[in-house]
Amino acid sequence: MSGNPPTPAPPRRLTIALAGNPNAGKTSIFNNLTGTRQKVGNWPGVTVEKKEGHIHRDGYDLTIVDLPGTYSLTPFSIEEVVARNFVLDERPDVVVDIIDASNLERSLYLATQIRELECKVLFALNMADLAREHGTKIDAGKLSALLGVPVVFTVGNRGQGMDELIEAAIRLAESPAQPAHDRNVRYSGDIEEAIGRLERFLTERAEGSLPYPARWMAAKLIEDDPIVKERLVAAAPQSGMHALQAARNLRQQLAARFDDDPQLVMTDERYGFIAGLVREVQSTTSRQRVDISRNIDLVLTHRVFGFPIFIFFIWAMFQLTFTLGEYPVKWIEAGVDLVAGAAGALLPEGVLRSLVLDGVIAGVGSVIKFMPNILILFFCIALFEDTGYMARSAFLMDKIMHLIGLHGKSFIPMLMGFGCNVPAIMAARTLESEKDRILTILITPFMSCSAKLPVYVILAGAFFGPQAGTVIFGLYLLGIVLSILTGRLFRSTLLRGADAPFVMELPPYRMPMAKSLMIHMWDRSRMFLRRMGQVILLGSVVIWTLSSFPQTAGFLPDDDVYHPGENAAAESAVGAAPGAASPDAASAAEAAEAALRRRAKAEQTESSYLGRLGRLIEPLFAPLGIDWRGGVSLLSGFVAKEIVVSTLGVLYATGEDGEEDALERALAESGMTPLSALSMMVFVLLYLPCLAATTTIRRETGSTRWMLFSLAYSTTVAWVMAFLVYQGGQLLGFN
Ligand code: GDP
Ligand code: MG
Repeated sequence: MSGNPPTPAPPRRLTIALAGNPNAGKTSIFNNLTGTRQKVGNWPGVTVEKKEGHIHRDGYDLTIVDLPGTYSLTPFSIEEVVARNFVLDERPDVVVDIIDASNLERSLYLATQIRELECKVLFALNMADLAREHGTKIDAGKLSALLGVPVVFTVGNRGQGMDELIEAAIRLAESPAQPAHDRNVRYSGDIEEAIGRLERFLTERAEGSLPYPARWMAAKLIEDDPIVKERLVAAAPQSGMHALQAARNLRQQLAARFDDDPQLVMTDERYGFIAGLVREVQSTTSRQRVDISRNIDLVLTHRVFGFPIFIFFIWAMFQLTFTLGEYPVKWIEAGVDLVAGAAGALLPEGVLRSLVLDGVIAGVGSVIKFMPNILILFFCIALFEDTGYMARSAFLMDKIMHLIGLHGKSFIPMLMGFGCNVPAIMAARTLESEKDRILTILITPFMSCSAKLPVYVILAGAFFGPQAGTVIFGLYLLGIVLSILTGRLFRSTLLRGADAPFVMELPPYRMPMAKSLMIHMWDRSRMFLRRMGQVILLGSVVIWTLSSFPQTAGFLPDDDVYHPGENAAAESAVGAAPGAASPDAASAAEAAEAALRRRAKAEQTESSYLGRLGRLIEPLFAPLGIDWRGGVSLLSGFVAKEIVVSTLGVLYATGEDGEEDALERALAESGMTPLSALSMMVFVLLYLPCLAATTTIRRETGSTRWMLFSLAYSTTVAWVMAFLVYQGGQLLGFN
């Protein structure tokens, strides 16, 4: 019927998958395309991160999927299997292969393999800027013609070429499929013949039930690909078994003829194909190819200078973290005091006021002021990563890591552990061997994470004065030494075996982009903030509740306001401020009142549920010189290490004092000595990782037993070391 307006067609849904080598710029392009509309999860059944984003463009609903970065599509690593299965089984409408144009040859190894999957492929020649800097020119038209794939140029970190990329992807999705068969790598006669025979066998016997294109499957069977074999037999049990038998025979014949594994021969031939391709499409205009990266590496990975330079960078990182971080800490402290003052003035005395001041503000306030230090630390780590220096550190540490029986690659998780153990443990995924991975995961928690920093700053600051920095540096060092010893121990017992050999990648140095640094830093710091809002807030409230009930003396009045009437009682009770007529009298009286109130609070805390719990665990911590308050704080630290400080804050009830260094003073008054403070710091350094890290260990090792083992082992080491420090120190006459 006429008259009805045509109903608009519903938006067409397209799935676009981003594939490419690690560091080719996938994540940058993914972020540019999707902005903040991202969903991060894991691929089903494996611990490989999956990122997905949705956007609308030109009447299309686009789902963009960031595939794991891989160098090839052989089924040797989880990442490769995940990427390949996605393309094969989920059949995305378009696969965008992100090619590092400054590293064309290496990128094409993956690109040619993707091309053979008979999906719609689009090449994004990324790092176009770097290629140009190196004086490399790529003839995109020729590349496109040779492989039958559309090509666009992009600069991922600057967001250039994104519109063209999306347009080309949509155009490709709407165009008829590109036949792949004539663009395949051509193998030498015998191999081609074997593939051809197997392909015919498959099409004749199992045509309808083949899960994937016949030629591709045939080639994979000659390569003896376990996953393809499995899928074939599952799809066509009988003819599949026959095909496997035929493939076995053909492989044997080929092996005899080449005197080598056919798979290796095929790999070599693929490289040959690619070398030819590169020759066709790439021209080098200047001799700049002896590039800057190599020159920088002459210094930074130098046999003699490399190591001291590396130590210097680490030292600079900590210097920056602490010295630069000091200023904003003061501002935040002032801000917290302001909030506490306002809350104190607004809220009437009673349970709510105590909850807000002693619970929430004392707890969260004592932790939030470390935000600047942590941001700076994460910024430095992001800087190492983005410039490419992180990979060099792995290279430099290789020799030392071999002492533990691990290779340099394991050092990256350890270095990241200084920031946060959760991403650090996840970074162990890049290790191929399971034993290496588990060993790395077991030693990473000894790297002192940023959440432990507040504890050291408070304790070392209170008891070691100007030496605090040295003490903290010593703690970091102790963690490293113990991780090395642990590595050696387990390598020769539980996780025996040699480290798997591998080629150390040295990606080119890159000028870090501010935006990418910020994203990396923010990604990690966000977690810290979220913990502040959730775990630490909750933890503080729980600790406050446990320490405030049962009530003995009612919630104490405030002392921010000067109460002349109460002074007499305070003075006589404490016996302070004898010279009441002197000009100092008022302030002395105030101090006396504060002391009185602290004592009353201490009595309340001791008789509370928390106090009772503390008494219960006291014997465990007594040999370490840690009193029941310390013990309770350590216990609460399982939730998150920052809570150790906030619990101390609540237990010593410093929230209302509104004075600088209140907690430090309270600690010193409580009978803690430098030696027992040191013992406590050692314990904090080594004992069980926090809840988030613990669950990560379980996920990444795939085993509750390894998780429990890690908890038990680290806590035992912590206890023994703290015991040695405290008892040994006493024997030597320290206190
Ligand atoms: P992924 O491993 O493939 O996800 O790669 P990333 O997106 O994390 O990029 C690796 C690094 O390369 C980052 O430091 C990016 O800022 C940088 N990068 C990405 N695309 C380009 C580009 O086109 N040119 C240059 N010079 N750097 C880029
Ligand atoms: Mg990435």
